[in-house]
Amino acid sequence: MTDFDKKEIWFVTGSQHLYGPKTLQQVDEDSATIVDGLNKAGKIPVKIVFKPVVKTPDEILNVCVEASAEKNCIGVITWMHTFSPAKMWIGGLKALTKPYMHLHTQFNRDLPWSEIDMDYMNLHQSAHGDREFGFINSRMRKNRKVVVGHWQDPQVVEQIAAWSRVAIGWDDSQGLKVARFGDNMREVAVTEGDKVEAQIKFGWQISAFGVGDLVKYVEKVTEDEVAQLYKEYEEEYEVATDCKPGGKYHDNVLVQARYEIALKRFMADGNFKAFTTNFENLTGLSQLPGLASQRLMAAGYGFGAEGDWKQAAMLRIIKTMSKGLKGGSSFMEDYTYHLDPENEGVLGAHMLEICPSIAAKKPRLEVHPLGIGGKDAPARLIFESATGAAMNVTLIDMGNRFRLIVNTLDVVEPLEKMPKLPVASAFWKTLPNMAVGAAAWIYAGGTHHSAYTMALTPEFIESFAEIADVEYVVIDKNTCLKEFKKELKWNEIYYMLANGLK
Ligand code: MN
Repeated sequence: MTDFDKKEIWFVTGSQHLYGPKTLQQVDEDSATIVDGLNKAGKIPVKIVFKPVVKTPDEILNVCVEASAEKNCIGVITWMHTFSPAKMWIGGLKALTKPYMHLHTQFNRDLPWSEIDMDYMNLHQSAHGDREFGFINSRMRKNRKVVVGHWQDPQVVEQIAAWSRVAIGWDDSQGLKVARFGDNMREVAVTEGDKVEAQIKFGWQISAFGVGDLVKYVEKVTEDEVAQLYKEYEEEYEVATDCKPGGKYHDNVLVQARYEIALKRFMADGNFKAFTTNFENLTGLSQLPGLASQRLMAAGYGFGAEGDWKQAAMLRIIKTMSKGLKGGSSFMEDYTYHLDPENEGVLGAHMLEICPSIAAKKPRLEVHPLGIGGKDAPARLIFESATGAAMNVTLIDMGNRFRLIVNTLDVVEPLEKMPKLPVASAFWKTLPNMAVGAAAWIYAGGTHHSAYTMALTPEFIESFAEIADVEYVVIDKNTCLKEFKKELKWNEIYYMLANGLK
């Protein structure tokens, strides 16, 4: 996973020479104090780096060019302590390629009522200075995050921290390599898409491999390596009796251990961060990689079934953004409904490939026939998701653009036990309710596949979509179907026209 410690966000304060050296020195000192405070708050996962106040078009251009070129700089925070005439920013903003946040804060929280004088007024000008900066960004049709409030307010720090994680996700997205074993599931539409456009918009490098390329790795795994890995399974999971040494399915488990080692090696050799499989393309493999895919997801890799590279990449990015936060993330599919009008819900699952990072308790390791694909009975982890707030995130290709769709969920305990269901699952209430939530998702064209996460909120995906400059729609507790349908229609027009405005 991405090493957060090496990543930096630059803090750039704008001003001009009009104020004279004394005021500008104070601006510098105040900015450095803010940066220090943000770093010491202990909430922001990357280092905020103070940059000296910029006062001329050249200084602004230089810092923007440097930020764009510096590999470890994943984003920029801008703030106008004083007034910084915004024509000075045009060149810099044109050159800046990193995501940026406009922090609309003020050094002092409170007005010093009895002390306030013109010196104070000449220094604490963000109320109007940041409006000038806001204009030029809007005039240039720049997507950026605006955060408002005092820099010591925990809610402001929280928003900066969240945006920092989005910037980390964006950084991970650039050059993110996805390995596809086999192609798209035959005749399936929604998992298809324009991979060239995905590389242009998100930076993803998506490459297909014959399953034979993976089989070569599988064949090289040694018995010792498999035996070592099996010991880990015994420690981490409740292994079914027939899966233990001497049991009739023990060898089926070892096959998945072999796949896991081979997959990890393949991914490491090619620097891949996400992968897809397709149960129709398994020539040379005796099982669909179930347990192996589950464990690779738990190790931070993105995964998509049936060739779904879009969800594989999104899951990887979500896992990167949420590193260290509470709550797991998994590939997911809306599988089966409970349509009792008094208690509607969705049973989310997949044939096998759900990530144990979302498990409520220790998963069970079992082997059962798949009933599809005509292969050997695969080993898989069985568990139920932890409960609480979650969301499904999906990316679709609308032909002229990508659309990111988020639906917030309330994950609850399954209403009854499911002793005959040998897969991992999650049971949730779709927000705002089943009728509106599912209809909105379907009108939006959302796929049956998602990246499901309990670690993030929709704001992360909204910011990510803004950085990528792709469409974003959210279905949550406030969704009104009538308005949502209009939003989809308006977006059609916006995305036809927006490029002409830039
Ligand atoms: Mn599927």
